[in-house]
Amino acid sequence: MTKELMIESAKNLKKALPLMMKYSVPTTPSNYALWYHYAAEKNLALKESMDNLLANNENCPPIQAESLYREHIRSEEENATLQLRTSIEKMMIQLDKSIIDTHSDTNQFQESFEKTVANISKVEEEGWSIDEVIGLLKNLEKDAKQMRNATRFFGNSLSVAKSEIDSLKEQLVQTRHAAMYDSLTGLFNRNAFDTELSAYLKADTKGLCLILCDIDHFKKFNDTWGHLLGDQVLKAVGRKINDGMRNGSTAYRFGGEEFVMLLPKTNVRIARHFAETTRKQFEKLTLKDKRSGQMINNITASFGVVESKSGESITELIARADDYLYKAKRLGRNRVLPI
Ligand code: GH3
Ligand code: MG
Ligand code: MG
Repeated sequence: MTKELMIESAKNLKKALPLMMKYSVPTTPSNYALWYHYAAEKNLALKESMDNLLANNENCPPIQAESLYREHIRSEEENATLQLRTSIEKMMIQLDKSIIDTHSDTNQFQESFEKTVANISKVEEEGWSIDEVIGLLKNLEKDAKQMRNATRFFGNSLSVAKSEIDSLKEQLVQTRHAAMYDSLTGLFNRNAFDTELSAYLKADTKGLCLILCDIDHFKKFNDTWGHLLGDQVLKAVGRKINDGMRNGSTAYRFGGEEFVMLLPKTNVRIARHFAETTRKQFEKLTLKDKRSGQMINNITASFGVVESKSGESITELIARADDYLYKAKRLGRNRVLPI
């Protein structure tokens, strides 16, 4: 490392560490890397995303930090390669064995070939009969066939290993994605929500609002139009919610036909207003049922909005939002509570 580079690294680290403390960031290797690069201010896309995240949060939400780390610091490819090492090592041992086998077959072939070549000179010297010459050629053919099989087997081993590596890589990318995202709507999933909310609550974040949202009579869409159309409704609703996310707020699929939004540094009045806007957006949604060609435009949802209280647990916070949601359903659905 050159001296300039060392000075530069030390400078970045000196800048990164106090920031990490300020935002209560756990000192993990990936966090060090993320904050180091942020402090270095070389990756402008990362800087902008981080600035935006920090402007809207008192602490650094771990799921979103992890997501930024993956997006900007460690490419998917590198990520996969790292985890694949063990599998690849195993495969290398197998391939190595094939190479040794092929090598010993090659040696045998060479010996036998050399013997045959030596014999060829005798054909003339000793006046071999046609049958003897044919026997010699047959030997040669047999050896060549064996050789061909050995190399073909080795070639096959290589291509099997290659496709195994490709499919393992693909599996890893998918598994990592599945741990955080909901496959149907593409929103963050329940697992991501739990992690993020627990971090917010641990940091005792002031002004954190939670909006719980449940599609009204969703079962009817499934029963009337089929499960696939039901899925389309969930996708459309998920997209609409996500499109409306602003200022550090994040949407998650809570489960089934329920969604949840976290709005840090938000006044509860603003959060209710936001829920109301979303509710109205749903009313405007239209979908076409491909089979019957009929339009579906009666999508509505009920909402419960709460602001976190100091010392409150995840369960308590969600239970309060759920109470409002339940009340909204009882009062006739398609509404936000409290008013
Ligand atoms: P309410 O207004 O009281 O919320 O009525 P609802 O019909 O929306 O609620 P209910 O809990 O009775 O039904 C929810 C339905 O959502 C039942 C379940 O089959 C369906 N569902 C859950 N997950 C999925 C999914 O991923 N795809 C589809 N198509 N349906 C789902
Ligand atoms: Mg429900
Ligand atoms: Mg429902």
